[in-house]
Amino acid sequence: MQKVSIIISAYNEEKNINPLYLDLCEVLSEIKLDSEIIFVNDGSTDRTLLYCRELQKSDQRVKIVNLTRNFGHEIAMIAGTDYATGDAVIFMDADLQHPPRYIKDMINMWQSGNKIVLTHRRSNADNNLIHRLFSGLFYGLLNFLSDVKIPRATPDFRLIDKKYIDFLKRFDERDSMFRGTLSLVCDVSKAPVIKFDAPRRRAGKSKYNFIPSIKLAVNGITQFSVRPLHLAMYFAIVMGLLSGSLGMYAIIERFFLKNPTPGYATIISAITFTGAIILFVLAILGMYIGKIHIETKKRPLYFAEYIEKYDEDNNKRG
Ligand code: UDP
Ligand code: MG
Repeated sequence: MQKVSIIISAYNEEKNINPLYLDLCEVLSEIKLDSEIIFVNDGSTDRTLLYCRELQKSDQRVKIVNLTRNFGHEIAMIAGTDYATGDAVIFMDADLQHPPRYIKDMINMWQSGNKIVLTHRRSNADNNLIHRLFSGLFYGLLNFLSDVKIPRATPDFRLIDKKYIDFLKRFDERDSMFRGTLSLVCDVSKAPVIKFDAPRRRAGKSKYNFIPSIKLAVNGITQFSVRPLHLAMYFAIVMGLLSGSLGMYAIIERFFLKNPTPGYATIISAITFTGAIILFVLAILGMYIGKIHIETKKRPLYFAEYIEKYDEDNNKRG
């Protein structure tokens, strides 16, 4: 019989574990397939791990990948795939913003031959106007600057066949971004897409506030494109031409025009502006060099303990 692995990354989601599990059980009981539910505990500081272990007492399908600290959502998902034994993997968030009822449609589409099934989030009850504006700006910029096109509002809630998971594993990159790497594996625009409306998160707070979102955005751009380096060069050329012309004008003004106006202000602003541009270009270069630095170290991506089944002794220690 075919088997499906559900991978749920959870960071401080204690209040969501049980409701999500109950919903999942209902859906899985309607699907005539073997299944496993892999909770990846991404270094939670609340009782997330404890609740997952409680579930293991009565359900052999529940597995836990317990990361040694918080590694971030992307790495947590990758860690989950390393322990998944299913013929297909379904990724979902722990906060019930990815409604489990769509799993049935995903499985149907997979069984009729699709290797990946994506979702499109029509709306997100947790997002306000500012959120929407920023996310529009981010995807606009990302797709303009990056060689890999990533459609907007395509969350990580998706099904990927085992074969494609194996393709993804071949990337062996430290700093990867699932959505983008998948676009490097196949033409994602051909994959079927399930549309859904994301409800409010069931409990707790979103972990993607301003700073982590900016980090993800910058990562997404530098991970898939060297275009910012080209842009920086064009920018530098334009700035060079501008300051050259300004210099010429100053010379003409000094020697050929009567009553030249004192130009301190212009000169100072030209100098500081050029300085800012140079710093900007250096920062872009620095980001790429930083990435090379991290990649060459080939550090392990994460550290985790795999808890396959409930074990009384282990539970006391943990
Ligand atoms: N998450 C994680 N590690 C992190 C941050 C988030 O595993 O460092 C999980 C989180 O528990 C949730 C999912 O990633 O299951 C999505 O996070 P969140 O709901 O905070 O993001 P949002 O839906 O607001 O974009
Ligand atoms: Mg959420």
